Amino acid sequence: MAKKQFKAESKQLLNLMINSIYTHREIFLRELISNASDAIDKIYYKALTDESIRFNNADYFIKLIPDKEKRTLTIMDSGIGMTKEELEDNLGVIAKSGSLNFKKENEIKDGYDIIGQFGVGFYSAFMIADKVTVTTKALGSEEAYCWESEGATGYTVEPCTKNNIGTEIVLKVKENTEDENYDEYLEPFKLQMLVKKYSDFIRYPIKMDLQSRRLVEGSEDEYETYTEEKIINSMVPIWRKNKEELSAEDYDKFYSEKHFGFDKPLKHIHIKAEGMVNYNAIMYIPEKMPYDFYSKEFQKGLALYSNGVLIMDKCAELLPDYYSFIRGIVESDDLSLNISRETLQYDRQLKLIAKNIKNKIKVELLHLMKEEREAYERFFQSFGRQLKYGIYSNFGAEKDELIDLLLFYSSSEKKMVTLAEYVSRMKEDQKYIYYAAGESIERVNQMPQTEMILDKGYEILYFTEDVDEFAIQVVMSFQEKEFRSVSSSDLGLDAAGEEKETEKEQEEGKDLFNEMKEILGNKVKDVRFSKRLKNHPVCLTTEGFVSIEMEKILNSMPNDQTVAAEKVLELNGNHEVYSALAKAYEEDKEKFKLYTVLLYNQALLMEGLPIEDPLSFSNDVCKLMR
Ligand code: ADP
Repeated sequence: MAKKQFKAESKQLLNLMINSIYTHREIFLRELISNASDAIDKIYYKALTDESIRFNNADYFIKLIPDKEKRTLTIMDSGIGMTKEELEDNLGVIAKSGSLNFKKENEIKDGYDIIGQFGVGFYSAFMIADKVTVTTKALGSEEAYCWESEGATGYTVEPCTKNNIGTEIVLKVKENTEDENYDEYLEPFKLQMLVKKYSDFIRYPIKMDLQSRRLVEGSEDEYETYTEEKIINSMVPIWRKNKEELSAEDYDKFYSEKHFGFDKPLKHIHIKAEGMVNYNAIMYIPEKMPYDFYSKEFQKGLALYSNGVLIMDKCAELLPDYYSFIRGIVESDDLSLNISRETLQYDRQLKLIAKNIKNKIKVELLHLMKEEREAYERFFQSFGRQLKYGIYSNFGAEKDELIDLLLFYSSSEKKMVTLAEYVSRMKEDQKYIYYAAGESIERVNQMPQTEMILDKGYEILYFTEDVDEFAIQVVMSFQEKEFRSVSSSDLGLDAAGEEKETEKEQEEGKDLFNEMKEILGNKVKDVRFSKRLKNHPVCLTTEGFVSIEMEKILNSMPNDQTVAAEKVLELNGNHEVYSALAKAYEEDKEKFKLYTVLLYNQALLMEGLPIEDPLSFSNDVCKLMR
């Protein structure tokens, strides 16, 4: 029988596996057991829907057989088996699994444990075995086949005999080396431990012959050893267990076993719902963003099981977009088994579950915020933006759902606060919830527009993410308090008496302002005295819907239209710069023009907006110095 070559990529991976000093060799067992379990899933599912196939539950099992004399470990399953073609397709090539590309790109960087994290399936057997022999008989097939390989040199496939449907994998365990002990993979005790560690929730019994000691019958002190087949996994999936039985470590372990994330989750949510709709779910609130969270590859959704069978890996219908960071699994036996992606959308049960889950997540997030504020802040750092997009999208349909979950940096508290906390601290005469938009906390700290508001002792929320203002414009108000940007024309700071006075003041500067407006043309909508400046001479504010920050964001987006905020140039009437301006207005029109343009450009700079003509700005400054 001619030896066949592995596909090129498979060869590379094999070499990698065999030769890399790899600390997690033991995961080979998890990989082979998972494959066995998947194969049983397939036959189990077939038997549920196909009348002609009849099985007892006892027919579904996996068995481990270590043999010290022969130095072999056998993993046997009663799964669906493989046809000759499947043997060639599945075990002759592995590039499809995608793990290899990932591995190449990340070439053992920082000792990154790719194999441990992702699993590379069947080939991991070569980490502990010199030779692997797979004997298999597929459901509905009369012939059995034997696949054999000693690693990168290639493999053979030959017909052979096998009585039962299923697969048997015999590993010829490597000899010990100076720094590697392979013998342990022949020790029942070690194998039992590995099953507990990695494969405890496999739903089929994993059996092994174990030696026990018992009293010889009739004797009081004489023992004999005997061999007994035992089930070494607990089988019940973690989500079906009672919460009381499970420790925090159990949940964390499940999280990493399922590759939900590399981080330690902040919180788990275990639901056992009975009533209108029955389901079990374990979900996690992660701390860190997955590396692909904002890429096209990222898929939201929860794994969906029904009657112990995985229906789909990522059921998107179970999660709204703004909770796409939630990872986990849902099992409901109420769902019809032949459910597919197409029929799923219309499934009433699934809709009910989704609604239920959504509510539960909200409750848990609020709980986390209340009980473990620091942890919540870390969560918010990763996923707050997602919640804000949730508010903004669909015209604010979900704003009431999400508004309580938001945090913003506060000028007075110097940390993240909720809107409820803000409102509870509002001063008696304070009309609005004030916010200042800028690209960073440092930047907002320097905004002249905040001076008077801070002087009044009012708190300001910092909007430092691009989505913030857009989201809040959808919300409009919170607990009947309207939001107001520190840059908006009306800040509601005036007491009734002051109002008249400022009107009079504005009147006094009217001619001067009109002339400034003429000089600046359509760059500004208005020029006026400021009610918000204390120490700075000048600032820009806006009227209407679009703020300066929004203008920046919208213009940075890849479409051609330019959006402009309606800008108002505000002057501090108490500042000596204003006096100088007024003097120039009376005495030297050239100078007045120069001052006007300079002040406008300065205001642009403070807003982080580009100056339209930097060269003439520079010339203007020089003129001033001369
Ligand atoms: P993966 O499990 O990620 O698909 P593997 O290399 O572990 O990759 O396995 C490749 C394929 O070989 C599996 O998808 C499955 O179709 C088949 N296979 C592996 N082990 C078994 C088994 N014990 N019984 C039946 N089919 C198997």
